Parts: sequence; structure tokens; C-alpha cells
Amino acid sequence: MIGCVLSAARKKTSFQKKNKGRLMKIPVIDLGECIDCEACIELCPTVFRKNEAGYIETIELGEYPKQELDEIIMNCPGQCITWEEI
Ligand code: SF4
Repeated sequence: MIGCVLSAARKKTSFQKKNKGRLMKIPVIDLGECIDCEACIELCPTVFRKNEAGYIETIELGEYPKQELDEIIMNCPGQCITWEEI
């Protein structure tokens, strides 16, 4: 769980640098609840992928397809994807 928090914090910093202080929302995965079904990757491979450690992660993008992600969030079996404002 601590790893998830640290990973999210690192990701936030990276996103913030790329977006130069602009407020934006990113989909964040609570890996403690993720059941690793890979449905999010299958449905939206432009946003989600597996990292080198084998965990699902969000790909850094300038913006995210809100409608598509809202649907994935609603249907995530682990209920572990949320929007986070950065
Ligand atoms: S759909 Fe949800 S539970 Fe399945 S891998 Fe993605 S984040 Fe994890």
C-alpha cells in the first residue's frame, strides 16, 4: 500500500511538471484493491498498461477520454479506479 501511495506521489509530480501547474484530472488506481483482471487495459490500452513490476498503471497523457474512463471506472471489478485532481 505504501508503494502505491509513493508511486501516485511520483506520478503526480511528473504530471504536474508536464502540465506546468494546470489543474487536470487523472485516473488513479488503488493497487491494494485491484484484482489484476486487466479489463482496463483491454478496454483502454491508450490509458492503462502494466509496468515493469507487473502492476497496472496509468500512462501519462496530456488529457484523458473522460466519457470512456467514466465507463471503465463504473465497471472496474475492483472498484479501484478514481479520478484525482492534480
Ligand atoms: S479493471 Fe480495475 S480491477 Fe481490473 S485490472 Fe483494471 S484497475 Fe484492476
